[in-house]
Amino acid sequence: MSLAFPAAEPVLLPIEGTVEKFPVRRVYCVGRNYADHVVEMGGDPDREAPFFFQKNPDNLVSAGDGFPYPPQSDDVHHEVELVIFLKSGGSAIPASEAFDCVFGYGVGIDFTRRDLQAAAKKAGKPWTAAKAFEHSAPVSAVTLASRTGHPAAGRIWLSVNDTVRQDGDLGQMSWKVPEIIAELSQLFTLAPGDVIFTGTPAGVGPVRRGDRIACGVDGVATLSLSVI
Ligand code: MN
Repeated sequence: MSLAFPAAEPVLLPIEGTVEKFPVRRVYCVGRNYADHVVEMGGDPDREAPFFFQKNPDNLVSAGDGFPYPPQSDDVHHEVELVIFLKSGGSAIPASEAFDCVFGYGVGIDFTRRDLQAAAKKAGKPWTAAKAFEHSAPVSAVTLASRTGHPAAGRIWLSVNDTVRQDGDLGQMSWKVPEIIAELSQLFTLAPGDVIFTGTPAGVGPVRRGDRIACGVDGVATLSLSVI
């Protein structure tokens, strides 16, 4: 067997405290998971069933230390999110067993072309172009769950040019980590290497070329990059 052309390189993420790498399989994202962000986007804060969309594995990789401002948008927003990294998976995983699937946690940014998303919502069209573009999901290194525990509370924040824009707490998540894994596994077969973005607190807003962005989940990870 020979390949018609070289296969794409697998996406490998650094793991804090080891030389081993985390090989990425799929990237899932949860929409509207913090009530105060639902309200700022004009939605109903009553808890609704979680819904999911996807990004591409290679979207996790920054361009050097930067986030290249994407084409076809004038309104790209930051969304800081707790990120789950899976070491095992399955289908119909009970919430009571979901923590067994978790390899570690990190922080990431779900960059969103808000103008394209608004147009898609209005037209009842998919979010793919708004969400799954190049470099749209930069993440920190993976921190092992054996170091972080399974964080259910703690500050999640993002600053732009040293001004705090998002300042929430994981305790505000409508759907918690085990519930997200359980729900997602009803729809998809989860597997080692899957990555899950868990939604963003209030304070999302636009970024511009030259902005310096820092974000973190206290006790888990931090991430810094510039918009280039
Ligand atoms: Mn998001």
